[in-house]
Amino acid sequence: MPFMTRARVATLSVAAMLFHAAPASPQNSAVLEVVGRGVEGRSPYRGGGRVKFLSVTMPTSIVHFEDAEKIPAKIEISYEVLQPAPILLDSRLGSEYWSLYNYTTGDISRLHSREGIDLRKRGQAEAQANGFTVDLSRGPSLKKGLCGIRSRSYFLIVDAQTNVWLDVCDPNPFWHSPEVKRELSFTLANLTDFALTLDEFASTWRPSEPFLVRLSVKDADGDVFPVSRAQITAQPESEGKRLAAIALEPVYDFMSSPTGFYKGTLPKTTAPVDALNLEAKVLAQTPMGPAGRMVTARIPYGYGEVERIPSVSGFFESKLRRSADGKIIETRAIWVHVRDYATPEATDAMIPRIKNANLNVVIPIVYVRGYVTFKTDKLPMEREVPTGFDPLAYLIKQCHAAGLEVHPWFCNAYFGAKQGESHGPGFERYPQFAVVGKDGKPFATVASQVPADLHNPDYQKFNVDIMVDVARNYDVDGLHFDYIRTMTDCYCQRCREGFRKHFGHDIEEATDEEWTKWNQETVTKIVRDVSEQARKIRKGIIMSAAVFANLENGARQGQNAPQWADAGYIDVVLPMDYTMDTFELRKNEQSFLDAMKDDSKLATGLSIYVRSGGKASSRDPSLVLEQLSMIRSLGIQGFSFFCYDYLSDTMLDMLRQGPLAEPAIPTFRLKEEPPADGNKL
Ligand SMILES: [Zn+2]
Repeated sequence: MPFMTRARVATLSVAAMLFHAAPASPQNSAVLEVVGRGVEGRSPYRGGGRVKFLSVTMPTSIVHFEDAEKIPAKIEISYEVLQPAPILLDSRLGSEYWSLYNYTTGDISRLHSREGIDLRKRGQAEAQANGFTVDLSRGPSLKKGLCGIRSRSYFLIVDAQTNVWLDVCDPNPFWHSPEVKRELSFTLANLTDFALTLDEFASTWRPSEPFLVRLSVKDADGDVFPVSRAQITAQPESEGKRLAAIALEPVYDFMSSPTGFYKGTLPKTTAPVDALNLEAKVLAQTPMGPAGRMVTARIPYGYGEVERIPSVSGFFESKLRRSADGKIIETRAIWVHVRDYATPEATDAMIPRIKNANLNVVIPIVYVRGYVTFKTDKLPMEREVPTGFDPLAYLIKQCHAAGLEVHPWFCNAYFGAKQGESHGPGFERYPQFAVVGKDGKPFATVASQVPADLHNPDYQKFNVDIMVDVARNYDVDGLHFDYIRTMTDCYCQRCREGFRKHFGHDIEEATDEEWTKWNQETVTKIVRDVSEQARKIRKGIIMSAAVFANLENGARQGQNAPQWADAGYIDVVLPMDYTMDTFELRKNEQSFLDAMKDDSKLATGLSIYVRSGGKASSRDPSLVLEQLSMIRSLGIQGFSFFCYDYLSDTMLDMLRQGPLAEPAIPTFRLKEEPPADGNKL
C-alpha cells in the first residue's frame, strides 16, 4: 500500500515550530524552591531558600579543545534570591551534572562545575562556573564539534559555612527552556590556530525575502565546524548607496539545536540589491585567553540564488505513517489514575478532554497496592469509589462510545503498601505472597512499598488469573503490565531452594547475571501466561507493558521487553522515558529500536509532568512538543503520556493545534509494511 509522506509531514513540523515561538513558560518556571530529595538515606533538606534565575550566558562561542576531560569556558548565572538560606547550590560531583550534547558526534557527556550559587543574601547576584570537568563514570570524554549544554540533573545543596553537602534538589524548568539550550551552545575546536569563514549563502534575492548564511570555523587540524552564536550584520548596497545594516538571527531547529545558519531579510527596495556586505564577530576562548575575531564577506547580487530558501532543520522532519485512505497511524495513549475515573462525574469530565487531544487509548490503573477498580471477590475496590459503582465498566462503556480504546493497567508486583502492620488489603488476605528479606523477615520493603514475590507460583497464578478474569468479564481492548519486575530480591525458603536447584549454589552468592536470568525466566513466564490465556478468551486483545527506559536496569529485575515483543507475547512496548533531556530520550529509544525486531511495536512513555520544589506539576508544553517531535523523527509510531493529571488546558490546546491536530488510528490496529526504500534515519 502506498505511503504518504513528506509534504503532509512537513506541515506538521512547521506547526510544531511555530508553537515553540509562543510564550509558553509560566512566570514561576524561573523560580527554584530549594527542597531536598533526601538522598543516600538522609532526611530531606527542608531549610528553605528560594531563588529566581534571570539569565545564563556563555560569553565565548568557540572554545579551545584543550583535552578530552575539561572545557575551559565559563558561564555566568544571574539570579535573584527571594528567600535567603545559608546554602550554596553547585554541580560539583556525583549526579549533579550538566548534560553536554555533541551535535557533530551524537555523544552525551556529563559535566561538573563549581558555580556556587549563593543564597545567603536577599537580592540580585551573579555566579560563575569557570570551566567544566567531564564525569567519565557517567558518559564519554569530549570530542571536537558543535556542542550544547542542554540540561542539568540536580543541584547539590551545600552548607555555605562548612562547604559540606547536605542533599540534592531537582532543577526548576528554567534549566530546560529553549533560551538556555540556545545560549549554551558553542563549538569545541583546536584554536591554537583557526580561521572563520562565511561558507554558505542562499537567497532568492527578491526584496523583503529572507537570506541564509552559515558561519564556520576551520581549526588548527583543518577540521571545519559550524559556529552557532555570533553577531552577524549585513549591509546591503543598492544603486551605489549603502542601506541600513540588517541584523541576522541564528537559526535553530524545533529542538533548539543550533544549525550554524543565520537568517536575515532583504530590504524592501524597488531597485535590486547589488551586494550584501557581511560582517561576523565572535568571542573565542583561545589557549591565550578570550579573544574577539571577525570575518567579512561581500556577496554580489545573484550569488547562491535559489527559487526557495531551503529548510536547514530538515533532519528532524517527522515520519508519520498514514493508512491507504490517508489517516495517521499512531498509538496515542494516556495513563489514568483512580481519581480520574472513580466516579461517573470524573469519567464524564475526562473523556471529552482526552478525545479533544486526539488521543486514542486510555490506560486506567485497575490493580495496585492490593486494591482494584473492577468487580472481583479476590480484592477490595479502591476506597474513593462510591459503593456499588463499577468504575472500569463505566469507563469502558463511555470510552467506546467516544471511539477510545481501554487497556486496563496492572501493577503486577506492586501488591502492598507499608500501612502500619497490615501492608494493605492484599497482604492482609494473602500474607504468604510477600517477598522475604535477606534477614528472613517477610514484607521486605522497597522505599515504602512491599512487593509480592513474583517467584511464588501461588502469586503467579493469582496474578495471571485476575488479569485473565478482567479480559473475560470486561469488554477491554487490551491489558497493560506495569511493575512487571521483581522490585526487590526475594530470599524466601522457596526462592532459596529453587535458586540452588537452578544454579547449583546458594542464592546469597548470586551474580548479577544470575539474578537477571533467574528473574527474567519468572517474569517472562507471567507475561507469556497472561498473554496466551487472554488471547484465547478475547480475539484481537492488545498486550502492552510499561518498562524501564534503561534496558540493563530492567533486565536485572526480570524485564526483557524486546524478547517479549519478538516472541509475540507483547504487542506494544512502552519504555517509561521520563527524562527532561531529549537527547537522552533519543538514546534510550534507539536502544529499544536496536533490540527489537519489529520497530512498530515500540511506543514511548513520555512524561508530561516535572518535579521541582518537592512538587509535581505540568511540564512546559514546549518540552513535550520537542520530545514528541524527537520520537517521531526516529520513526517511532506511538506514545503514552504520563499522566492524565498533568494534561493542563494549555498543553491540551498546544497539542491539539500542533502535533495532534489530526486524529489517528492506533498503530497496532493498522499495520503497514515499511516502504521498500526504508523509512529510518
Ligand atoms: Zn521468594
